[in-house]
Amino acid sequence: VTNGGRPALAAREARITLEDLAVGARFLAHLPRVLRTPLGLDEARQVVARRLDRRGPAFVDHVRATVYAHPASPYRALLHHAACEAGDLEQLVRTEGLEGALFVLYRAGVYLTIDEFKGRRPVVRGSATFHVDPGRVRNPLSALHVPARSSGSRGAGTPVVFDLAFIRGCAADTALFLEAREGTRWVHADWEVPGGGSLFRLLKLASLGARPARWFSQVDAAAPGLHARYRWSTRLLRGAGALCGVPLPRPRHVPVEDPRPIAEWMRQVLGHGHTPHLMSFASSVVRLCQVALATGIDLAGARFTLMGEPVTAARLDVVRRAGAVGIGRYGSVECGPIGYGCLAPSPPGDVHVLRDLHAVIQPGSAARPNVPDRALLVTSLHPAAPFVLLNVAMGDAAMMDERACGCLLERVGWTLHLSAIRSYEKLTAGGMNFLDADVVRVLEEVLPARFGGTPTDYQLVETEDVDGQPSLALLVHPRLGPLDADDVAGTFLQAVGAGVGVERVMALAWRGANLVKVDRRAPLTTRSGKILHLHSIPTPARD
Ligand SMILES: [Zn+2]
Repeated sequence: VTNGGRPALAAREARITLEDLAVGARFLAHLPRVLRTPLGLDEARQVVARRLDRRGPAFVDHVRATVYAHPASPYRALLHHAACEAGDLEQLVRTEGLEGALFVLYRAGVYLTIDEFKGRRPVVRGSATFHVDPGRVRNPLSALHVPARSSGSRGAGTPVVFDLAFIRGCAADTALFLEAREGTRWVHADWEVPGGGSLFRLLKLASLGARPARWFSQVDAAAPGLHARYRWSTRLLRGAGALCGVPLPRPRHVPVEDPRPIAEWMRQVLGHGHTPHLMSFASSVVRLCQVALATGIDLAGARFTLMGEPVTAARLDVVRRAGAVGIGRYGSVECGPIGYGCLAPSPPGDVHVLRDLHAVIQPGSAARPNVPDRALLVTSLHPAAPFVLLNVAMGDAAMMDERACGCLLERVGWTLHLSAIRSYEKLTAGGMNFLDADVVRVLEEVLPARFGGTPTDYQLVETEDVDGQPSLALLVHPRLGPLDADDVAGTFLQAVGAGVGVERVMALAWRGANLVKVDRRAPLTTRSGKILHLHSIPTPARD
């Protein structure tokens, strides 16, 4: 794939805003307290137990404070349309339970699809029509401390900014997850792309007193076009850590196509009698394990947390062959962790829902055209969560069931399981998501304008190969005549990565990983058309 220079874009992106500076100042003011008073295991247990104990009342309090008290909240309009005032809500939760109440609300139209949540499509409920301004779904009670990423696909977007209180709140769940995995003494490392959840994860570990040992980045921080915010937030975090006596590692560039430095580091930790633990995207972990197998680096005993992409049998099989143990984690940048991987033998990718932080329901028989029956409708319960989520369909569907697996996570009180989690409207690759709408625009407008043909001549097929690696085939109809495949792939990546922020980062990572292959075949005829999410068909187990 060719990598042309785009200096104009780079210049436009490299601006730090006043809001960035304000966020940085608040971060510096509050971080010392978080780092100097680590959350202990006993405290973590109490925190989670207390939250599980009063989910219903906590939800009612949260909605009163963040929705009913805020005229601009889109949820207030939805609740009003459903004729549900604060007193009704309290009564509903008391009689139906939290999930029961959420289901009643969903049926009355109180929910948002991800497109509505991000203001891409108007909300239409009966005769009422309105637009969601993404700024108005932000939690008004959440302080802005830690920048994560821009969630907008084009233009400025809405920065996702975490409150340190939320990070500490999520750290309680992480502490219990690590304890269940016998990982309280592991040596941690993170390998993601700038602007993802790295800062969130590193701070979570630091707030448990478990200092991350290594910080790997899949994208070179010096890459042109990368938002200055990424470099700047990294410096800020390390500087603040040093001031508090908690030195944090410097990010080191390790591209997806050559993960050997990480495999070698893990081998070294194992050699010293310790257990290395790497958090990264599912496909990146698979690539690392393949390289370890191919180069004879023994990873027996290493641990991985696989994030951001489906955890399939094929992927876990590669990790196992490398002698390591991989467990999945399900979450989103908008709301933090939603589920942690089950430790009992269970379907690949099975996770326990962190019910102290979220409530999750499914429409079932009350499915709608844009909310399938197995869609996950997520409601946030933590008072400092970055966004107010009330029955938000984040674009994922799954199997959901309450059952006894016998693993330690169940004893925490996390008895609800999700498995076969798959995106139904996003393109997921290399650990990041694009909305189909953005990819479709590139396929239907940008490529025909540049290379000729019509929108029906282009199609993206997303799948995974036998080793669990994500693979994107860009089908281009042969009737368009000879074309430079590198030019077509480069144009696609460039156009998809043309936004400010995370999409740009992703385009860099994709280029590096050679993820998009141009295939001169006629697009396949299907109902869904432009993008085929072949990975939404769970991969059958190979053993
Ligand atoms: Zn379990």
